[in-house]
Amino acid sequence: MRKPIIAGNWKMNKTSLEAIAIAEELKRDLVDVGGVDIVVCPPFTALQSVSEALTDMNIAVGAQNVHWVDNGAFTGEISASMLKDFGARYVIVGHSERRQYFGETNETVNKRLRAALAHGLTPIVCVGENLAEREAGKTFDVIKNHCEGSLAGLSGDEAGRIVIAYEPVWAIGTGRTATPQQAQEAHAFIRQLLEKLFSADVAGDVRIQYGGSVTPENIASLIAQPDIDGALVGGASLKAQPFATIVKAALSSK
Ligand code: PEP
Repeated sequence: MRKPIIAGNWKMNKTSLEAIAIAEELKRDLVDVGGVDIVVCPPFTALQSVSEALTDMNIAVGAQNVHWVDNGAFTGEISASMLKDFGARYVIVGHSERRQYFGETNETVNKRLRAALAHGLTPIVCVGENLAEREAGKTFDVIKNHCEGSLAGLSGDEAGRIVIAYEPVWAIGTGRTATPQQAQEAHAFIRQLLEKLFSADVAGDVRIQYGGSVTPENIASLIAQPDIDGALVGGASLKAQPFATIVKAALSSK
């Protein structure tokens, strides 16, 4: 039985004071909630303050990106050991915004993923097609390409430690959510792929989140699907109340 996992991606939002305020509110709302992994991913600048605010709580902290080298002449970059130093336990890699605006490729996603695993961080690896690709009937080709490229060279043990987020790009920040059936179809495809690439055990263990306009209203029908193990939430994670509602609804509907 896979434990559900709900993660909030705050993207480039929140000063550290604003971030602490949400963290404090989440702490109050979610203190008694067990049976689900809860993660918030503030911007780098608020990682430490949010980690401190959530010390010993049931809410883990994640980063939104990581560089693959440990230290050196890479101006502007942040390494896995630096993230750990700030209390991060998770890191999002290969988000479509990074693929679209910052030249992220499967190859660089793979390097980031390996660096995260090597430092004991749990990578949340994002895959998913854009609208043109879906309309051209290429959804599964794109997902396969993202998964095979991003996970290249991983051992079964390493693959078993990742989280995958299926995020159709056309659903991110658009208010246009994939239907539960569309999402389930993609998640089942990813799970079959994991079995081919690694093993039935890995396929059975890896948690696959859905991401794309998740709200308190639609989480229940999404998470009720057999291969949907959680959600990566953008917009609805920027306020404590809707995010906490999503966490609780996910738990009660799984
Ligand atoms: C995201 O950015 O990963 C995301 C899913 O955003 P939203 O929930 O706003 O669509």
